[in-house]
Amino acid sequence: MTDCIFCKIVSGDIQGNIVYRDEQTTAFRDINPAAPTHILIVPNKHIDSVNMLIVDDEPLIGHMFTTAKNIAAQEGIAENGYRLIINTNADAGQTVFHIHLHLLGGAPMKNPMG
Ligand code: AMP
Repeated sequence: MTDCIFCKIVSGDIQGNIVYRDEQTTAFRDINPAAPTHILIVPNKHIDSVNMLIVDDEPLIGHMFTTAKNIAAQEGIAENGYRLIINTNADAGQTVFHIHLHLLGGAPMKNPMG
């Protein structure tokens, strides 16, 4: 999508602090980190939100989680632990409408979920 900021990071039109990329996913550091390690894993193809997923997307979504696991190990936070979050629509606080998996870690989580 032409007006999607994460599509622009995937295509290289906007610079992102990219830590990993492959044919299906791109991962980059969050511009406003909520934890010492805060990385966003996004599909290279545009999908607005979890609400728009179809059965054909299941391998892609699984790949995003495997990618998150590998990046957590690469970042040295796998052993101590990390949190994976996907916000969907207003009540969850989704602000960028291109699915993204937040990978948060590097310190004990202070806030309870919800
Ligand atoms: P969400 O609230 O789940 O939609 O999360 C969107 C995230 O994208 C926020 O944590 C933002 O800080 C992050 N973000 C927005 N623009 C950029 C950008 N250009 N590069 C990296 N992260 C961004």
